[in-house]
Amino acid sequence: MAVVHEKELLCKKFLSKTQKLLIDGKWVDAKSGKTFETINPATEEVLCRVAEGSKEDVDLAVKAARRAFESGPWKTMSTAQRAKLLLNLADLIEKNADELAQLETLDNGKPIKESRYVDVPQTVETFRYYAGWATKLEGETINANSNFFTYTLREPVGVVGQIIPWNFPMLMMAWKWGPALACGNTVILKPAEQTPLTALRIGELAMEAGFPDGVINIVTGFGGDGAGEAISRHMDIDKVAFTGEDKTGKLILQASTGNLKRVSLELGGKAPNIVFADADIDAAVKGAITGIFFNQGQVCCAGSRLFLEESIHDEFMTKLKERVAKMRQGDGSDEKTHIGPQVSKEQQERVLNYIEIAKGEGATVACGGQSPADMKKGFFVQPTVLTGVNNTMRIAQEEVFGPVLAVIPFKSMDEVAEQANATTFGLSGAVWTRDIKKAHKFASLIKAGTIWVNCYNVFDPAVPFGGYKMSGYGRELGKHSIELYTNIKSVWVNMMD
Ligand code: ADP
Repeated sequence: MAVVHEKELLCKKFLSKTQKLLIDGKWVDAKSGKTFETINPATEEVLCRVAEGSKEDVDLAVKAARRAFESGPWKTMSTAQRAKLLLNLADLIEKNADELAQLETLDNGKPIKESRYVDVPQTVETFRYYAGWATKLEGETINANSNFFTYTLREPVGVVGQIIPWNFPMLMMAWKWGPALACGNTVILKPAEQTPLTALRIGELAMEAGFPDGVINIVTGFGGDGAGEAISRHMDIDKVAFTGEDKTGKLILQASTGNLKRVSLELGGKAPNIVFADADIDAAVKGAITGIFFNQGQVCCAGSRLFLEESIHDEFMTKLKERVAKMRQGDGSDEKTHIGPQVSKEQQERVLNYIEIAKGEGATVACGGQSPADMKKGFFVQPTVLTGVNNTMRIAQEEVFGPVLAVIPFKSMDEVAEQANATTFGLSGAVWTRDIKKAHKFASLIKAGTIWVNCYNVFDPAVPFGGYKMSGYGRELGKHSIELYTNIKSVWVNMMD
C-alpha cells in the first residue's frame, strides 16, 4: 500500500524514542518504570512506546501544577504575556504542521488530508482564539446598594485535570488547553492511551513556546485504575474536564465527589440528520456522507440516524449508494484515502458487532457491512448503510462510534420531530430543507446542543459546543468555555460613614 516514504516521515526522530511524561517542565519516566505500546491502526505496527503514568505520577503532576498556580511567574505574569505564550504555541504548531499531521494520521488512522486540513489548522485557530480571551477577561461592578461598592472578580479555577479521547487527539487538547490556560489555570492532561503522540509532541512545543514549569503537565496512561481515575479522584484538583463515552463520564463524576471538584462532560451522541422532500437532495446526500463517515464515524456528533421523508427515500438511497461505492478506503497516510481504519481492534470489533446486532433486529445492509476482504492488516470496517431500521432498534439508540448509518423513513414533521428526540442523547442534529420556517422550527424543536441547517460538522472556535440530556453538560468553545475555567468572586466594600 502506498504510504509516506521514510525520508518524508518528518516525525521519524520523534518516533525513535520512548515517550516520557511531562511533569514540572521536565520529561520523566513513570515512577513504576512501566511503558505501553501505541499502534498504527492501518498496519498494526508498533509506532513507539509511551510511559504508563499512574497515581504516583499524577500526584507529582498535581504538586507541580499547584505550585505553578499559587506562586511563580504564571500567577504574576500579565495577561498580555499569557496571550503571547498561547500565540507562540499556535505559531510553533503551524511551523510543525506537516509533522503533526503525519503523527496524527499514524497514531489515529485518519486520512492525512483531514489531519492536515482540519485537525492541525483548527488546533492552531483554537489556540489563537483563546489567546485573544486572555486579555479580555473582566469582572463587573454592580449597582446593588449605594451603601456598598460591589464588584466581581473573575478568577481562574485552579489546578485542572483534562481527560481526552482518541478521535481528535490534538484538537481535543486545544479545546481543553486553550481556555484553561487563557484564564490562568494550570493543567494536567491525560491523552487517550490509543493516541498519545500528538499531545506529547505539542507538549515539547509548549516548552519551546516558553510556558513556565508546572503550568502544563502531561501524564499518559490508562483510564480506569490508571492515570485517568487518579485525576478524577484527586483531592487537590479543582476541576476535571472530560470528553469521551457516557459510561466513562458517569464514572468520572462518581470519582469526583471526594472534593466535589467542578466537572464538565462532553459525551456521546446519536444525532438525527433529517432530510425533507423539499431539500437540495444532492447537497443532503453529500451532507449525510460527511455526517457519518468523516473520521471513520468516530465523532460524537456523527449524523448516525438519517431520517428521510418517504417520497424521496428511493431517489436519495440510489444517490447515496453511488457515492459510498466511490469512497476509497485505505491507509490514512495515502493521500487518496477517503476513509481509514477504526482506531483499534476493540473499536473494529465493536462496530462489526453492532452491524450484526442490527441485522439480527431486521435491518438490511445496503452498503458495506463488514471488514474489506482485501485488507489483510489494519482495523478497517467498510462504510456501511443500513435500511429497514426503526428508531427503537438498538442500532438507532446506541452510539456505535463507527462508519454505520441507520436510515429511517418518515411521513410527517410531527412524527420525525418526536423520533429525533426519542433518544437519551442530545449533542447535535441537522435538518435539510429549502423552507426557512421549517428549518427554524426544527432548530427549536430538537433537544440538542448544536443544530446544523443545510450543512453538517461545521465548527469554529467562537461557536459553543456541548450536550443536552446524556450528552453531557457545560459548553466548550466560544466565551462559554471561559465560564468553565473561571470562578466569580463577589466583593462588598462598606461605603457608609
Ligand atoms: P473509549 O471507551 O472509546 O476508549 P473512553 O471514554 O473510555 O472512550 O475514553 C476517553 C478517555 O477517558 C481516555 O483518555 C481514557 O483513558 C479515559 N478513561 C477511561 N476510563 C476512565 C475512568 N474510569 N476514569 C477516568 N478516565 C477514564
